[in-house]
Amino acid sequence: MYDVVVIGAGINGCSVAYEMVKAKKNVLILDMDGVASGGSGAAGAFVSPKFSKAGELKELLHDAFIYSMEFYEKNFHTSFTKAQLLHIAQDEISGEILKYYKEHATLKLKSPSEEILATLNPHAKEMQNISLDAGVVDAVSTCQEMIKGAIFKQEKVDSLQYDDGMWVINECYCAKDVVLATGAYEQIIKEPYLKLRGVWGHRIDVKTATQNPYSIHQFVSISPSKDGVLAIGATHNVHYHPQTSQEPYNIQKGRAELLQKAGQTLKLEDVEVIKDYTGLRSGSFDYIPMVGSLVLSGETLACGGINFKTKKPSFDEYIYYPNLYMINGNGGYGFVLAPYLAKILKDKILNDKKISKRLSPARFFARWAKKL
Ligand SMILES: Cc1cc2nc3c(=O)[nH]c(=O)nc-3n(C[C@H](O)[C@H](O)[C@H](O)COP(=O)(O)OP(=O)(O)OC[C@H]3O[C@@H](n4cnc5c(N)ncnc54)[C@H](O)[C@@H]3O)c2cc1C
Repeated sequence: MYDVVVIGAGINGCSVAYEMVKAKKNVLILDMDGVASGGSGAAGAFVSPKFSKAGELKELLHDAFIYSMEFYEKNFHTSFTKAQLLHIAQDEISGEILKYYKEHATLKLKSPSEEILATLNPHAKEMQNISLDAGVVDAVSTCQEMIKGAIFKQEKVDSLQYDDGMWVINECYCAKDVVLATGAYEQIIKEPYLKLRGVWGHRIDVKTATQNPYSIHQFVSISPSKDGVLAIGATHNVHYHPQTSQEPYNIQKGRAELLQKAGQTLKLEDVEVIKDYTGLRSGSFDYIPMVGSLVLSGETLACGGINFKTKKPSFDEYIYYPNLYMINGNGGYGFVLAPYLAKILKDKILNDKKISKRLSPARFFARWAKKL
C-alpha cells in the first residue's frame, strides 16, 4: 500500500513525486516508457517568463518563473544552467508587445552583450528584443534526480479502480491518493469535459563552430552551447500527431525547418545534427494548466439543486472522484510551471488547501455542463 501513486514520469509527475517524498510520503511512480520519455524528454526545457502584455497566463508564468528559477538552482543545481535569455521579436506586432513588456517590467532586465549581438543575423539584430537572467534544465537528469526517494516502475497503467476506500492500480498496487500526470497521451479517466490538445515538437542537438553563451528565442529556441553542441527546438507542428496522422513524421524535413529557422536568427557555422528528440506537449483549451481534483460528471449532473446555467458556478457543489488528482496542460511551459504547480497540488492533497478556480479542472466541467 502506497500513500501516493503518480502515473506519468514527465516533469509534472516527477515534481509531484519529489514534493510528496519530501513530505515523508511513500510514493510509487509509474511510466509506460521510462522517466522523461514523453514531451519532457524532447523539450529544450528553458525556464523563462511569458512576454505578453497582460492576462492570467502571463501572471501565472511570472510567479512560476520566479519560483522555479530558485527551486532548480537550490535543489537541482548540477542539472540546471543559468543563462541569459535573449528573446527577439518575430515581427512588428510581437515587437510592440516586447516594447510594452519592457516599459512595464517588474523583472530585472539586462542588455544583450556586444558579443552576442555580433553573432545575430542583421535582420534579427534590428528587431526589438528583451533580455534577462533565465535558465535551462537538463530534463532527463532532473526528472531522475527528482524521483530518487520514490519507487519507480516502468509499466503502463490500464486500470484504475476505487475499492473500499483506496485506489487499485492495474489490479496490483494500492494507494490512498492517485495523481494523473500523463501529458498528451490517452487519458486514463474518461470524462467528456476533459480535453487536451497534443502539439508535436522536435529538438535537435547540433555540433557547430558557433559559440553561443545565451538562450535565444525567436522563431525557434536555441540553447547556450556546451562543448561545441547546442540544441534547437520548437513545438510548432500542429499538423502531425503520432496517434492520428497517416504518414510517419518526416525527421529530415523537421531538421531542415529547425535549421532554417535558427539560421534566420543566428549565424550558424559548420553545422552537424547529432541527435533528434521528438514528443508531444499537452495544452488545455484555454492555455491555463489543469491542477486538482476531477469532477464526477454523471453523479454531479444527477445531483438535484445545482444551477449549471449560472455565470458564477460554485465548484464546491460538485461531486469529485475521491483522492484522485491531475496535473497537466502546461503547454510550452512545462519546466517553468511544474515545480510551482506540484507544490500547489501537494498542499491540496496533504493539507486540503484550496486550489484557485482558474487552475481547477472543474472549470471545464462548469463550461461543459452549462452548454448541455
Ligand atoms: C520540442 C519541445 C520543446 C519544448 N520546450 C520547452 C521549453 O523550452 N520550456 C518548457 O517549459 N517547456 C517546453 N516544452 C513543453 C514541456 O515539454 C511540457 O510542457 C512538459 O514536458 C509536460 O510534462 P508532462 O509531465 O505533463 O508530460 P510528459 O513529459 O509527456 O509526461 C507524461 C508521461 O506519462 C506517461 N504516460 C502516459 N500515459 C500513461 C499510462 N497510461 N501509463 C503509464 N505512463 C503513462 C508517458 O509515457 C509520459 O512519460 C517543450 C516541449 C517539446 C515537445
